[in-house]
Amino acid sequence: MNRSPNVTETDAIVIGAGPVGLYQVFQLGLMGLQTHVIDALPHPGGQCVELYGNKPIYDIPGIPVCTGQELIDRLQEQIKVLKTPFHLGQEVTAIAQRTDGRFNLETTHQSFITKTIIVASGVGAFKARRLNLAGLESYEGRQVFYHRPDLKNFKGKKVLINGGETPALETAIECAQLGIDVTLVHRRDVFKAEEALVQEFQTLCQQGLIKVIVGQISGFQESSGTLTALEVTDFDGQTQAHAIDVLLPLLGISPKLGAIADWGVALENKQVLVDTEKFQSNVPGIFAVGDINTYPGKKKLIVCGFHEATMAAYACLAHIHPDQPIHLQYTTTSPKLHAILGVSDKTK
Ligand SMILES: Cc1cc2nc3c(=O)[nH]c(=O)nc-3n(C[C@H](O)[C@H](O)[C@H](O)COP(=O)(O)OP(=O)(O)OC[C@H]3O[C@@H](n4cnc5c(N)ncnc54)[C@H](O)[C@@H]3O)c2cc1C
Repeated sequence: MNRSPNVTETDAIVIGAGPVGLYQVFQLGLMGLQTHVIDALPHPGGQCVELYGNKPIYDIPGIPVCTGQELIDRLQEQIKVLKTPFHLGQEVTAIAQRTDGRFNLETTHQSFITKTIIVASGVGAFKARRLNLAGLESYEGRQVFYHRPDLKNFKGKKVLINGGETPALETAIECAQLGIDVTLVHRRDVFKAEEALVQEFQTLCQQGLIKVIVGQISGFQESSGTLTALEVTDFDGQTQAHAIDVLLPLLGISPKLGAIADWGVALENKQVLVDTEKFQSNVPGIFAVGDINTYPGKKKLIVCGFHEATMAAYACLAHIHPDQPIHLQYTTTSPKLHAILGVSDKTK
């Protein structure tokens, strides 16, 4: 863990870069608040990307249909102009109120002081299921990748994928299409994915472009700090070593609610209780939006999260500047908002 010695001070921190966290960034930007975003994943998107990236969504206003990934791409496009710093691949571990009313916020990598916190942490921090092999962690980021990196970097290398569900199969197919020497290890010879994907995968296996080994990864071999081979044990207890350059364990991801229970906010069924005026928790200055919050009538839908984020942004501004009147402004006509959004003022 590389912890930066510097403490970053800001107006607002959004915990979670799922769809609601991303729209929260936009609304805080319209308020002119300086914002930072933190997510445990190495990329934005939350459930939309992790759980249904290629599947269609039909109930986003004004967008008759888009995939989970497309929605996230559009939300990112909308906030690009704000140049908000994203701190990805790090988890928020601790929050504590300071005597000056602000909050100390710690992640696995760095420290912040912030005037407001907006918890948009959905069903929890997404974490890749890990291979339980002592010592393997020292190759992470060099030869072992739990989140799929750019496969083009692996041309000319021996790639071994571990897993039997959609992400593993899709990655194996993509490797084969790129001409990469790819082997997939799965504990069974049955794969869990849509039929068309399994068929495409099996066709490439029959063509010899993907090798499949049925068994469990049971150990590894290394030479001078480089991972050289993986040991795979089959049903009969026979173990064989397979030479590799890169290992991609794609065993799925699972959300972990994490440290939220220690942040001092009142929870109900592991969700943050909020009011429906400000979407504020019992701790003034800590707000919660999207799937992580609860209130009478709560619906876990993206469009509801967008409303909550809008209301929370107004409330954050009021929390930071309690004596300042806050006027509702339209993005269509407000020169102030046009300046923030970097669009020409067409009201003149
Ligand atoms: C299969 C499926 C289909 C769906 N279809 C629809 C649909 O058609 N329409 C609809 O409106 N909704 C749909 N939903 C629900 C929708 O995806 C959720 O309501 C939405 O993703 C909630 O967004 P969010 O930003 O609140 O949280 P999430 O999308 O869960 O994102 C939360 C983010 O916070 C991060 N995080 C959590 N804790 C921490 C921490 N401590 N530190 C750092 N980062 C952290 C996580 O890594 C994650 O990236 C669907 C859900 C599923 C599973």
